[in-house]
Amino acid sequence: MAQDLQLALQMQRMDRQLAQLEAEIRGLPKRIAALEAKLDAHQKRLVADQAALTWNQLEIKRLSDATVDAKAKIERLKKQTMQSTTQEQLTAFQHEVAFAEGEIVKNEAESFRLIEASEALAATVRTAEAELAVERENVEKEKVDATARSEADRKKGVKLYRERIQLGKEVPPALLKDYERLRKKHKDGIVVAECTEGLCTSCQMNIRPALLQQIRQYPETIFHCESCLRMLFYNPPISVDGIPSSTQLPT
Ligand SMILES: [Zn+2]
Repeated sequence: MAQDLQLALQMQRMDRQLAQLEAEIRGLPKRIAALEAKLDAHQKRLVADQAALTWNQLEIKRLSDATVDAKAKIERLKKQTMQSTTQEQLTAFQHEVAFAEGEIVKNEAESFRLIEASEALAATVRTAEAELAVERENVEKEKVDATARSEADRKKGVKLYRERIQLGKEVPPALLKDYERLRKKHKDGIVVAECTEGLCTSCQMNIRPALLQQIRQYPETIFHCESCLRMLFYNPPISVDGIPSSTQLPT
């Protein structure tokens, strides 16, 4: 393979790796935000469960107070019943007592239902609290790991960047200019494309047989894909005995 092509491939490898490192470093705030959002969702669920439990307990207290009041009222009504002078008064008091007793039965039934629900809610809150604690710990750990990875990437990137600058100085200026021009043009970072089976593997366009013949004939010259303009490197298929299987163009 042409020496220049090897240099171009080496620059390409470095540039692509640098781009990947940069993308990873830039992605850190987003990854941290996603971790915090996950934690926030757990926290909100816990707050909702706690609020439901609090409401339940307040309601149980309200029903219990209402029952105490109803019992006091029944006591009072029973005394008044003793003092009633007419049948009408007696019937009215009895109705009021029956109504208050009915209220007590209803309150107790509702209270019983709420107490049962409270037990389930309390268990849910305990579980949510435990899960949140675990999640918080995991998130903290993941944040530390992500930050450390990002710092390692940054160091690797700085080292690679320096090596890439150095390599750029060693590359023939015309090659470097051609390489940089193509790198700006192709956002995927592929400047040197492999040419196999008569195709440019980057743009998938056919390579004219005449050009393919030249590529094979002059391995020290850099040729470009006529469609995407990338530099082409030719990788002849190797047969089982290690000798290129197609050194001749198909007739
Ligand atoms: Zn191409």
